[in-house]
Amino acid sequence: MDNPARVIILQVMTADTDIVIVGGGLNGPALALALAQNGFTVTVIDALAETVRKNAAFDGRAYALALASQRLLAATGVWDRVADEAQPMLEIKVTDGHAGSGPSPFLMHFDHAEIEEGPMGYMVEDRHLRRAFLDAMADTPGITRISGKTVVSQSVEQNHMTLTLDDDSTVSARVLIGCDGRRSGTAARAGIKRTGWDYGQTALVCAIAHDKPHNGVAHQFFMPPGPLAILPLTGNRSSIVWSERTDTAREIQALDDAGYLAALRPRFGDFLGEIKLAGKRFTYPLGLTVANRFIDERLALVGDAAHGMHPIAGQGLNAGLRDVGALVEVLVLAARRGEDIGAIDVLERYQQWRRFDTATLAAATDVFNRLFSNDNPLLRMGRDIGMGLVGAVPGLRRGFVREAAGLTGDLPLLLQGKRI
Ligand SMILES: Cc1cc2nc3c(=O)[nH]c(=O)nc-3n(C[C@H](O)[C@H](O)[C@H](O)COP(=O)(O)OP(=O)(O)OC[C@H]3O[C@@H](n4cnc5c(N)ncnc54)[C@H](O)[C@@H]3O)c2cc1C
Repeated sequence: MDNPARVIILQVMTADTDIVIVGGGLNGPALALALAQNGFTVTVIDALAETVRKNAAFDGRAYALALASQRLLAATGVWDRVADEAQPMLEIKVTDGHAGSGPSPFLMHFDHAEIEEGPMGYMVEDRHLRRAFLDAMADTPGITRISGKTVVSQSVEQNHMTLTLDDDSTVSARVLIGCDGRRSGTAARAGIKRTGWDYGQTALVCAIAHDKPHNGVAHQFFMPPGPLAILPLTGNRSSIVWSERTDTAREIQALDDAGYLAALRPRFGDFLGEIKLAGKRFTYPLGLTVANRFIDERLALVGDAAHGMHPIAGQGLNAGLRDVGALVEVLVLAARRGEDIGAIDVLERYQQWRRFDTATLAAATDVFNRLFSNDNPLLRMGRDIGMGLVGAVPGLRRGFVREAAGLTGDLPLLLQGKRI
C-alpha cells in the first residue's frame, strides 16, 4: 500500500499543467501550439473572451510577417489556415518624403529576386491570423484554454508556480510564461522593471482600397512627423500604418471618412490611383518598452511582454515569434535531457539567446524613428546619402533583403522550417 504521506507530497508537487501561458494574443497561441506539438501540456489564459478576440473588427492591424516567421506558422499548422488570405511581399521601396512634395529622389529598393528563398515575407491581417491561432489551439490536444479570466497574482512554490485568477480559481504549472503584452503583469508581479518611453506618436491604421494593383510592393515613406507605410494586402487593397504626432493623429482620427481621406491623399500620393477606405479606422499609441530581464524563477517573458517596439520596421511580432522558436527549442531539449524545465539555468539559455538580439532591434527601431521622424536638413542629407549607398551597393542591398526576410542571425530550428 502507498504511504499516505508520500501520496500527499506527490500531489503537492504535481502541477496542473507543464506550462501556463498568460496571454492568448498572438505570441501566446504560437507558443502554446509549438509546445503542445512537442509533448508538453499547456494552459493558456486570456482576460478577453474568445468571441471578442475572434471578432473581425477587434484589431485593424495587418502584419508584415518575415519568411522565417511564416516557416514557424507552417511548422505549427497555422499557415494552412491563413495562406489564402496572405499577400506575398515581393519588393520594398523606402523613400524620404514630405507630405505634398512627393518622395525625394533617394530611394532604397529591395527585391525578393536577390534571394533564392522566395518572397521576403507575407502580409496577413490580424482578423485572419488571430482566428487561425484560436482555431488551431482548439484542434490541438494538450492545450487547455481559459478565456475571460484575468490573472491577478502568482507565487513561486518549490517545484512549480501557482497563479490565481480573478474568480479565485488557481492554476499551477512547472513554468509560467508571460505573453501578456507591453504592460505585462507577469513581469511586474515578478519585480522585473522595464526601460522605455512614449514616442509622442500615434499610428493611424486602416485598410485602403485602390484602383491600381500594388504588385506585391510595400512602401515606406519617411515624413517629418513619422513614417507612413503602405503595405500590400490581397486584392487591390493596402494596409496603412501612418504615424503622426499624437495631437495631430487625434485630430485626423476625429475627422469623418471624407476628411480622413483628404488628409491622407497628399501623403499617400496617386501612384495607386483613386483610394477609398476598406474597413474601420484604428489608432495605436507608439512607445518603446523593454523588460530589464526576460526570466525569473520558473518564469520567462515572450513577445511584447519582453520587448514592445516602434512598428517602423514591422518587426515586433517577428521578434516575438523568434522568442517562441528559441524558448520551445530550449525547453524541448532540456526535457529530453531530463532537466527541470523551470530551472533558472535552463531559462537562462533562452535569455542569452534572445535578450541581446531584441535589445539591439528595439534600439535600432528607436534610432531609426528619431533619425527619420525629423526635418533637420543636415540629418535629412545624411540619411539620404546613407539610403542612396545601401540602395546602390548590391552586397548591402542583399543583406537588407535577408534581414527583412528574417533569415539572419542565430535562427531557431522552427524558423528554419525544421523539427526540433
Ligand atoms: C500599428 C502597429 C503595426 C504593427 N505592425 C507589425 C508588423 O507589420 N509586423 C510585425 O512583426 N509586428 C508588427 N507590430 C507589432 C505586433 O503587433 C506586436 O508585436 C504583437 O501584436 C504582440 O503580440 P503579443 O501576443 O506579444 O501581445 P498582445 O497582442 O498584446 O497580447 C497580450 C494578451 O495578454 C492578455 N492579458 C494581459 N494581461 C492579462 C492578465 N493579467 N490575465 C490574462 N490575460 C492577460 C491580453 O488580453 C492580450 O490578449 C505592429 C504594432 C503596431 C502597434
